[in-house]
Amino acid sequence: MSNILVIAELGTDKSLKKATLTAVTFAREAAKRTGGKVHALVMGKGVATPAGELAKYVDVVHTADQAGLEAPVAEPYATAIKAGAGASQAQVIVMAATNHGKDVLPRAAALLGAGMASDVIGFDGSAGFQLKRPIQAGNVIATVEITTDTKVVSTRPTEFDAAAPSAGAGTVQPLAVELGPQKTRFVKLDPVVSERPDLTDARVVVSGGRGFKDAENFKKLIEPLADKLNAAIGASRAVVDAGWVPNDMQVGQTGKVVAPDLYIAIGISGAIQHVAGMKGSKTIVAINKDAEAPIFQIADYGLVADLFKAVPELVEKL
Ligand SMILES: Cc1cc2nc3c(=O)[nH]c(=O)nc-3n(C[C@H](O)[C@H](O)[C@H](O)COP(=O)(O)OP(=O)(O)OC[C@H]3O[C@@H](n4cnc5c(N)ncnc54)[C@H](O)[C@@H]3O)c2cc1C
Repeated sequence: MSNILVIAELGTDKSLKKATLTAVTFAREAAKRTGGKVHALVMGKGVATPAGELAKYVDVVHTADQAGLEAPVAEPYATAIKAGAGASQAQVIVMAATNHGKDVLPRAAALLGAGMASDVIGFDGSAGFQLKRPIQAGNVIATVEITTDTKVVSTRPTEFDAAAPSAGAGTVQPLAVELGPQKTRFVKLDPVVSERPDLTDARVVVSGGRGFKDAENFKKLIEPLADKLNAAIGASRAVVDAGWVPNDMQVGQTGKVVAPDLYIAIGISGAIQHVAGMKGSKTIVAINKDAEAPIFQIADYGLVADLFKAVPELVEKL
């Protein structure tokens, strides 16, 4: 029982989400510590393609491919994860702490009677199984140890690189899951349809704050810049609370955690709750008219300027 089981997450087009490969990176390190192999579980209906893709990264892929798992509903998924944990003889079950992971994994932990550490950012020490996770909006890093034999871990995708393919291909094994009676039923999914890259996967994120003054300015100024950079658009909570943009664009402690190559924060003061969601970005650029704004403390490049002048100029130069 020393194997590691990675729970895969698929997009609505059934492609493998990049976050899954960041969980594989954690799993490989965990496998070194337990002396086990890395398995993965792909759930859904018609998932042979992503399962084959994932086999390039792990030793064994289990595919729970059946109608009852077509929609990503936590209840049947948790049942399948329990079955996957048994089939793979896993001691550690890991999934990226995406919205989906946060929905499914605690239920699976409960079914397995396992302790769980969420939002894990790495191991503490070079051996053993002590885990680091941020608390207090990322201002304190806690070290935790799960004391149950089976351990469930959700990993923060921005803290791990996506795994590279392994030298040899893994095997793919079907897993039949007895789902039993369900208390929840899938009704419909209204996906956000956007031409832009997904906020959590994007290489470049352009984010705006209250400095834009209103929704119209936000749209008029940010969109051309995001278009030039093929960027996703993010926002501070102030902007979301004001109703200028939908809340799936919020970056921060109570929004999404992003770590793109380039994060451009415009008219955002840099409150700790916002910074908690973007401080892992490789390069941070801030545009703010207030030279004392806290965002400049974490920015690699700062421009003290009026955004209404600076942003159109930037678009023009780009
Ligand atoms: C429990 C809790 C959770 C929270 N979670 C989040 C979260 O997930 N994400 C989040 O973002 N916030 C979160 N917040 C809110 C957070 O504390 C801040 O209130 C929020 O981030 C402020 O948004 P802002 O920077 O857009 O606005 P402000 O703080 O009002 O800053 C606006 C900035 O724009 C600048 N500005 C104004 N005009 C111009 C101009 N013409 N040109 C250039 N710059 C200009 C100003 O100098 C200022 O720095 C949370 C708060 C709490 C209590």
